[in-house]
Amino acid sequence: MIVRTTCLKCGQEQRINFGQVTFAEALAALNKIDVPGECPGGFHVELSGWSTLWQFGAALVLVYGAEAEQSAQVQGMLACAASYREQRKVVNRPEPELEVEAGRMAA
Ligand SMILES: [Zn+2]
Repeated sequence: MIVRTTCLKCGQEQRINFGQVTFAEALAALNKIDVPGECPGGFHVELSGWSTLWQFGAALVLVYGAEAEQSAQVQGMLACAASYREQRKVVNRPEPELEVEAGRMAA
């Protein structure tokens, strides 16, 4: 399953392919890419990782529903993203959404 998410800082779209992994595996994989680096196509470097800017929390809730909502780590991610939107007055960056291909949900 693919989620399209938008970087809260630059607005660049990022695609996260969750494949068929479980929630725990997805969380572990996201933790691995939540490291300092350059936003692909966005031309800014972050030392704090991508969990907040790429809205990992909302992406996980989209894919895993209640299982993700009940996770304390996901709740923390959601709170950080909401706080970032609030503090930076980010209003025009869409929430993550499932990628739809040919009128169907991408599997
Ligand atoms: Zn960016």
